[in-house]
Amino acid sequence: MSLVPPPFRTGEGAYALGTVEEVLRAAQSGSLWYLTFGLACCAVEMMHTAAARYDFDRFSMIPRASPRQADLMIVSGTLTNKMAPAIRKVYDQMAEPRYVISMGSCANGGGYYHYAYSVVRGCDRILPVDVYVPGCPPTPEALLYGVMQLQRKIRATPILRA
Ligand code: SF4
Repeated sequence: MSLVPPPFRTGEGAYALGTVEEVLRAAQSGSLWYLTFGLACCAVEMMHTAAARYDFDRFSMIPRASPRQADLMIVSGTLTNKMAPAIRKVYDQMAEPRYVISMGSCANGGGYYHYAYSVVRGCDRILPVDVYVPGCPPTPEALLYGVMQLQRKIRATPILRA
């Protein structure tokens, strides 16, 4: 896999040509620092994805414990009504542009607990979700694919307005 993102044109030397827009998009999509929001068993798979075998770091994905330094929230697990105000507050503290990946059936729609009185039927009722990763739990490969889909979405979204 090439290390140079698709919009760039490479020459023989170690350089790349691109517009300011392309550079900004490549920088943004290639440096997603994620705020971990592990809520249940899916969080273990997220941790697995960050560990040595799948190695999130090679995508420049760095876990952050503070919303002020993160631009991606990975919601991994069952979101309860009690936790919903907290997750929204943390999301609001993240700087723009910010993105959300909903990981697993529980975050996507309540999962096994869809009819439980205490569970939010999808974190998209609380947050604007960019990418949904299906599964219970999703595999690390699925989460990596979701991240790559988000990177593709960022690279396809205009940053500079005319
Ligand atoms: S989707 Fe499955 S693995 Fe993930 S938090 Fe819900 S019950 Fe656990």
